[in-house]
Formats: sequence, C-alpha cells, structure tokens
Amino acid sequence: MYLNEIIQEVFHEVDSLEAKGQVASYIPELKKVEPEKFGVYLSTIDNTGFGIGNCYETFSIQSIAKVLSLSLAYRILGEKIWERLGVEPSGTAFNSLIQLEVENGIPRNPFINAGALVISDILLSHLEHPKEDFLAFIRSLSNNRKIDYSSRIATSEKQVGYRNVALCNLIKSFGNIENEPADVLNFYFNLCSLEVNCQELSGLFLFLANDGCTLSGSRVLSQSQSKRVKALMQTCGFYDESGEFSFKVGLPGKSGVGGGIVAIHPKHYVIAVWSPRLNSKGNSYKGMKFLEEFTTKSQLSIF
Ligand code: GLN
Repeated sequence: MYLNEIIQEVFHEVDSLEAKGQVASYIPELKKVEPEKFGVYLSTIDNTGFGIGNCYETFSIQSIAKVLSLSLAYRILGEKIWERLGVEPSGTAFNSLIQLEVENGIPRNPFINAGALVISDILLSHLEHPKEDFLAFIRSLSNNRKIDYSSRIATSEKQVGYRNVALCNLIKSFGNIENEPADVLNFYFNLCSLEVNCQELSGLFLFLANDGCTLSGSRVLSQSQSKRVKALMQTCGFYDESGEFSFKVGLPGKSGVGGGIVAIHPKHYVIAVWSPRLNSKGNSYKGMKFLEEFTTKSQLSIF
C-alpha cells in the first residue's frame, strides 16, 4: 500500500523538525508525559493498518473523546439534541466562558468544553450506569476490551479543573444542565481520561469513515448523523484553529490536549497521530505538521 511509504517518509521528515511547543501542564499528570513521543497509525475500512514510531504506547485521549460522547448522545436523542447546543465554530479557546453568558448557556458546539459538558449531562440523564455504559459503548466500537479510564488522570484533572467547574455552573444557572454539576464534571473528567494508543484510536473512529457502521456491521449512527458528526469535526474539531486545520489538512479531525489527533478520510481510512508538544491553541504541533504533509503528498483530502 503506497500510503505506508508516504507515512514513513513524512514521519521521518517531521520527526527531525525542531521540538516546538509545550506539553499540556495545567493537568499535573499530563505534565509527566515524555515530550518527544511520536507515533502514527492508519487504519482502513477494508481492515488493513500501518503504524510507525510510538504507535502502540497509550496516551490520554482528552478532548478526542468528545466526538464519541456526542455520537452516543446523538444516537439516543436524535435531532432533539440540537435544542441544547449549537453547530457553529466558536472561534474561541476550548475552555472559554465568554460566549456562554451572552448566548444564554447554549454552547456553540459539542467540541468546546461547554458543549461537551452538556453532552455529558445528556448521557447522565439517559444512561442507567453512565460510566460503565459509556465504556461499554467505546469498547464495542472496535471490539476492544482493553480500553479503559485512567483514575490517575481523572483525579488529577478534578483537582485543578476550576474552569470546567465554572463552565458547568454557568450553564446550570441558565437551566441547560439537568444533573448536579459535580456529577456531570466527574463523568466528563472520566471520559477525557480514557487511554488509547494510535492503533486503538484509529480503530475507534472507523465507524465514522464507514458511514456510521462498525467494520463488524453494527450501526452506531445513521448515515446522515455520521455525516453531521464529521461536518462538526471539520468546522469545530480544533477550536480556534479549526479553519487552519481544514485549510492545511483538508480532513475532518479532532484533537486533544494529550497530544493526539485523529483525522478521517470518509469511506477510506482513519489516521491517528500522537505527539505531546502542543502549539499555542492546544493542538499537537507535530501532529498538525504530519497531517498537513501527509494529505499534501498523498493528494487525498475531502476537497
Ligand atoms: N480535559 C481537558 C479539559 O477539559 C480537555 C481539553 C482538550 O483536550 N482540549 O480541559
């Protein structure tokens, strides 16, 4: 498969770049990660895969989990979900409070923290055992029973998550959170703490490359819902750098402050990249660079 060669070539090119950016330090446990880790894994919908570098080492999924929590909540609520949050890029940082006050507690989209807290609230209201049921959902996506939460990371974030506490309380004051903020935050910190490697991460997102169906044939989302989730990744997946990612990479994607990025080429492949040094917008510096070069060299993008 010629994509393997491009991955190897671009990986070595980007690996030799000057180390720029910083590992996320506002969550104490994330600070402990080795900054120079770098891994890539590509999984295709015809069940082939190729990886390089530290692609089998686990890292913290962080905000990438927001796509999976949205998927489950969307499956449960259908289009009614959009009564609680919007579908517009925010143009602000992932943890910003500014728009919420002006926009009456309706988050701009599900991928900023405010939106992910509303999604967490929806899941708390609809799942019998939220933490266990969400994990079972994640595991079912690629039939991978190894994926788990990290209580070490969830606890670490809980101890310093003042902004998320503020966001959740502000939304609650507008009536857009039904449950106790402490329970919503607990669930949110847990879903951000999931640990995956690049191979597992690319496997988790194959259902979106495959029009909403897992490779083993179970339907997670309708084709239209799958299209909409990818549209949101395209326009909102990188916070106030979403335009830049779209411009340079040309694929729907999602980043997390653990240094992971996942990007989807619909009906073709999912690629996951991990490099913990982040740029000023909280997105992986080398991850962005790798994907830009990869889609340029392979001439495969959705545009
Ligand atoms: N858990 C992190 C937070 O809420 C997720 C942020 C991210 O990955 N962008 O701050």
